[in-house]
Amino acid sequence: MTKSEGPVAALARRIIQAQGPISIAALMRLANTAMPDSYYQAQQPFGAAGDFVTAPEISQMFGEMLALALADQWQRMGCPPAVDLVELGPGRGVLMADILRTWRQAAPALLVGASITLIETSERLKAQQAEALSAHADNLSWSTALPDGDRPMLLVANEFFDALPIQQFVRFEDGWRERMVHWDEARGFHDAMGPLVTAITPPQGDVWEFSAEAVEWAAAIAKRLQQQGGLALIVDYASLPGQSSLRGVAQHRRASPLEGLGAVDLSAGVDFAALANEASMAGAAAIGTITQGHYLSALGIHARHAQLAANASPSKKRELDAGLQRLIAPDGMGACFHVMAMIGPQDPPPAAFETSA
Ligand code: SAH
Repeated sequence: MTKSEGPVAALARRIIQAQGPISIAALMRLANTAMPDSYYQAQQPFGAAGDFVTAPEISQMFGEMLALALADQWQRMGCPPAVDLVELGPGRGVLMADILRTWRQAAPALLVGASITLIETSERLKAQQAEALSAHADNLSWSTALPDGDRPMLLVANEFFDALPIQQFVRFEDGWRERMVHWDEARGFHDAMGPLVTAITPPQGDVWEFSAEAVEWAAAIAKRLQQQGGLALIVDYASLPGQSSLRGVAQHRRASPLEGLGAVDLSAGVDFAALANEASMAGAAAIGTITQGHYLSALGIHARHAQLAANASPSKKRELDAGLQRLIAPDGMGACFHVMAMIGPQDPPPAAFETSA
């Protein structure tokens, strides 16, 4: 077992040997972000040569549609001269670059007044973001928290919340126990149940997932929106009520979450109802979710596709066609990815969400 063990697995094993089983959240934190060898610090996750492809990496049309949705909301808010533009987990910086390019064309006054904050844990990805966004260097900073301030906030988070650690609680006859991760020589890493937890009252089913970090981010976003208004667009795949949604992904395939720690992306479906609950507790509003396919279609992705395809070479046109299908088709990302909007109490409903409040 220890022969091919990488540095993340070695540390996880030593912690378990010293202190006993650890939670899924602690395992995810170690595997994804906590140390230099963790997944997002050390691996190249994105694109055909990586482990998975995200919507902005599939086609520029994704970022263009989100850019137009944000600019439209800015107009509906009366074009405030200065805004905070925030992205959580910007990956290679593709989505932000597409947003800024679109604003330069469609909403130059918004671009001029925007201060950009990127929330990113990986030093390697920060360097890639700096390169992708070098034209905006004067206007851009990295942070571990939302910026303070008195300006409205426009925020995007694509496949950020699914990377945050979750705890899992499993129903037994006598109550709920937390699913923990144990290690021994014979079995390597394996599931083990924690002590009985009687104080929780999960909504339904046999497994209940809870992400403290996701809830904290949602509360922080909602607090900002309650005070200064704006729009947050959260795009992700949803958790499965009552079931486990923890998954490992490597080289575009599902992989065991307990093997290859640090080399495999660990993620979990997002509990959008929990995020919406934080919004309403903070006095902001959550709208949706609606599916990514519905959202991009309502924002006009077909018209944008037609416009780009009209001037494209045959190979570029094939790429645009395939990108459109992957983003919106139900058997692509169109149905399994969901979009939630969060707004302040005074803000008008955002584009494509007018009828889904
Ligand atoms: N939004 C990008 C990347 C999604 S992958 C895209 O759509 O292509 C998840 C991103 O969140 C990565 O940039 C990862 O490094 C970052 N991330 C993961 N956990 C984080 C945390 N706890 N704090 C800040 N960033 C985190």
